[in-house]
Amino acid sequence: MRALGLTSGGLDSILSALVLKEQGIEVAWVNFETPFFSSDRARRAASVTGIPLTVKNISSVYIKMLKNPRCGYGTNMNPCLDCHALMLEIAGSMMRENDFDFVFTGEVLGQRAMSQTRPSLRYVEKRSGIAGYILRPLSAKLLPATIPEVQGLVDRDRLLDISGRSRKRQMELAERFHIEDYPSPAGGCLLTDPAFSRRVKDLLDHHDPCEERDFEMLKYGRLFRLNETHKVVVGRTREDNRHLSKLINPKKDTYLRMMDMPGPLVLIPSGGPKKVVHDAALLCAAHSRAKEGEAVRVSVNGPRGLQILTVSVCPREKYQDYLV
Ligand code: SF4
Repeated sequence: MRALGLTSGGLDSILSALVLKEQGIEVAWVNFETPFFSSDRARRAASVTGIPLTVKNISSVYIKMLKNPRCGYGTNMNPCLDCHALMLEIAGSMMRENDFDFVFTGEVLGQRAMSQTRPSLRYVEKRSGIAGYILRPLSAKLLPATIPEVQGLVDRDRLLDISGRSRKRQMELAERFHIEDYPSPAGGCLLTDPAFSRRVKDLLDHHDPCEERDFEMLKYGRLFRLNETHKVVVGRTREDNRHLSKLINPKKDTYLRMMDMPGPLVLIPSGGPKKVVHDAALLCAAHSRAKEGEAVRVSVNGPRGLQILTVSVCPREKYQDYLV
């Protein structure tokens, strides 16, 4: 008996795997990476428990879904239902390809308003392509029996009946399994963050097609939407500048730097016309150490080579209304 579990690296995923392992079922995990969530927590959980982990980058198919999720978004740009459905669909293919007997998750009935209600669990199951083969060990006794339970391959009596938002029973189980090192349940998905979601919406509203790099870029710096087709990203810190410089595509993007003093890295993804480049130079100068009104030189690099612009430093507030 082999089971493939979806893990976020959180306590519920860890416990669901250990509950099955206790029955003698061989368990393995898969974790999915996109620009919105990483595998860090899952890797930590795998090293604590010794459960083998496969990490799969699903960015391109995820971004396609994110543009138009069938069930829409949650409070922010989090398409939780379709996100779960997609992950289970991919896990279902992996289950078939690798001869696993079923898929399991750490979902707890009623724990999350959008994605863990009975109708939500039914919806993702229907969309997954492996209906009947998704076991939720922590809430199994409150849900219809799955095929492996009906076939007697999994002992339903040794599964659990946890529901709701309280973490009490999970904490007790963690103690029983001697699990001390686990992350807090919240966090981990940027799509639930209001500020990041505003940037995602801006990207989806203005750029098509968009790719993994475009979403990665949303994590750094200040973002100014100058017009329907052009935006400018201004690094806020040295770290921002370092990350942004790695994301530059010199064949497509235009990037600016102060010539004679420290200042931010400013990026115009896919470049822009003269007016946009001039605005970007003003933004670069306004976020540098130059004094208001001072004339400063800004280097402009891009597919057409190097150019030097001299601009007069304006107040930062001039572009406040363009901030996303
Ligand atoms: S919070 Fe993020 S990762 Fe979790 S289900 Fe929702 S969209 Fe997916």
